[in-house]
Amino acid sequence: MSSASQHVMILGSGPAGLTAALYTARANLHPLVVEGAEAGGQLTLTTMVENYPGFPEGLMGPDLIQVMRQQAERFGAKFLKGDATAVDLSVRPFTVTVEEERLQTRALIIATGASANLIGLESERKLLGHGVSTCATCDGFFFRDQEVAVVGGGDSAMEEGIFLTKFATKVTVIHRRDKLRASKIMQERAFKNPKIAFLWNRTIEEILDASQGKVTGIRTRINGSPKTETLSCDGVFVAIGHSPNTRLFTGKLEMDGRGYIVTHHGTMTSVPGVFAAGDVQDHVYRQAITAAGSGCMAAIDAERYLESLG
Ligand code: NAP
Repeated sequence: MSSASQHVMILGSGPAGLTAALYTARANLHPLVVEGAEAGGQLTLTTMVENYPGFPEGLMGPDLIQVMRQQAERFGAKFLKGDATAVDLSVRPFTVTVEEERLQTRALIIATGASANLIGLESERKLLGHGVSTCATCDGFFFRDQEVAVVGGGDSAMEEGIFLTKFATKVTVIHRRDKLRASKIMQERAFKNPKIAFLWNRTIEEILDASQGKVTGIRTRINGSPKTETLSCDGVFVAIGHSPNTRLFTGKLEMDGRGYIVTHHGTMTSVPGVFAAGDVQDHVYRQAITAAGSGCMAAIDAERYLESLG
């Protein structure tokens, strides 16, 4: 891949990255999109998207990503499979290493998104992919006619729980408080679903049974009490939020206490010529439409920056 003439590189291929690709391609900046380890981002792990304007019937997350990508490709955006493994933002043009290949770019748009959080138990780590999952869309199918637990109380937990009822005979949502964080509409759907039960005020102590190499249950402790209970289940879906994918930029760009990239004046980061869009810089709104909107902003900011260089 030739690098010297690269005007704009975009890291990440979720709605932020793809919208930035569309806009920079239409501005004749010949963007190169590095797809990332989880190409398409979180939308590829979701089911029906009902709140993306322009699709009154809703559409599947992966389909939305596919049409966004086609639209960017139509105007000449190029895509590179793989993950960026190093960046040098101290010298211009910037250097981005993608799987051993060193590429250069005059402007960089970071749209690397966020990834699922884990509870942090040893048993969870050992059983990940063996009954423990962070993606119902990916793994729900394996739990046909079985019982599963979902950990979390936000929209993701409700969405995963509702989706899992298509396969599982019973879904138990385990939440650490007595109130859900999820939006009212998602709460109502979950409460109405006869296959979904709730366990409130619980801390997850252990996912059983790592010694058998499969999930047989989940041990919880009732908050404020030494009492523990074991729920039998065949799968555990962890849906407790996300963290930004910013490890690559530690010490190179200003970040907030949670590791999100700090942006100002639109999508500018602490290094001129480097822009950030989508969930990597937004822990408040985190919607496909807001990510796409900030991807558009980053493209316009990058275009103006390049113009200012002459
Ligand atoms: P979230 O809103 O941050 O919720 C995370 C949930 O996990 C919270 O209920 C939290 O408990 C719980 N939690 C966090 N850490 C935990 C731990 N260590 N152990 C046990 N529980 C823990 O994350 P999200 O549900 O992924 O949603 C993120 C954003 O995406 C939100 O803005 C949401 O609206 C949006 N979203 C929308 C849809 C939709 O509209 N269809 C679907 C998915 C996501 P507390 O409540 O006690 O903090």
